[in-house]
Amino acid sequence: MGVLDLERMTWPEVRAELDGGRDTVVVPFGAVEQHGPHLPLGTDAMFGDEIGRAAAERLNAFLAPTIPVGCSRHHLAFAGTMSVEEETFCRIVGDIVKALAGHGFRRIVLLPTHGGNFQPLGEALAQLGPLEGVEVIAFKDVGVLASATLGVGAEMGVSAAEGGIHAGEWETSMMLALRPELVRMERAEPGYVGDLASGMQRFFSEGVHVLADNGVFGDPRRASAEAGRKYIERLVEVVVRTVEESQSDEGEPA
Ligand SMILES: [Zn+2]
Repeated sequence: MGVLDLERMTWPEVRAELDGGRDTVVVPFGAVEQHGPHLPLGTDAMFGDEIGRAAAERLNAFLAPTIPVGCSRHHLAFAGTMSVEEETFCRIVGDIVKALAGHGFRRIVLLPTHGGNFQPLGEALAQLGPLEGVEVIAFKDVGVLASATLGVGAEMGVSAAEGGIHAGEWETSMMLALRPELVRMERAEPGYVGDLASGMQRFFSEGVHVLADNGVFGDPRRASAEAGRKYIERLVEVVVRTVEESQSDEGEPA
């Protein structure tokens, strides 16, 4: 048991596992977008790889490859950011869910690890409608995962402003835990550290560049690998628990 890496398997292997009753698959949705002067553009996609894998491992599920590009219009002012329109994203989600459902996956877990993907994911599912015999468990509410990171931060004395929502303390800590060789800590500097709620609204509607010209929402300077491991552990726990609980009540988890 443990994770089944879809990308590395052959079709007869996938068929055999499905026929044997392993019918849950985790599909992470990441992003390729600026993460300040100190984190790589693939940060959110790498979170998808790692959090998706850890969750699939505990759920004895298949892990699909992370869909690397997401809805990142609010970061396009920065070099290298890639983005798809929400309409495109909805079609990608719908097509992938239909393909997996067609093979006999009965539980499809859609896991965004990038803030801009949550709302379009909800729209994609509304457009898709119910699929007979298939339970789609989608993390459509960014608040569920955000409150997990906020909670861990608070336990360690990290303020909400420092944690931020983008390239701040918690994202930087997670990257220090997962891909330390890609973090330029010597370039870590604070960005927007003002009011969280109003900042978030402007972040998504006007773009991060109007808040901070370095692209950072938060303050990454106190980040550490140790803190990162705590954030990741809590996030994986929330994902696993949500999937397990949705099994019993068949409800919409998030
Ligand atoms: Zn990010």
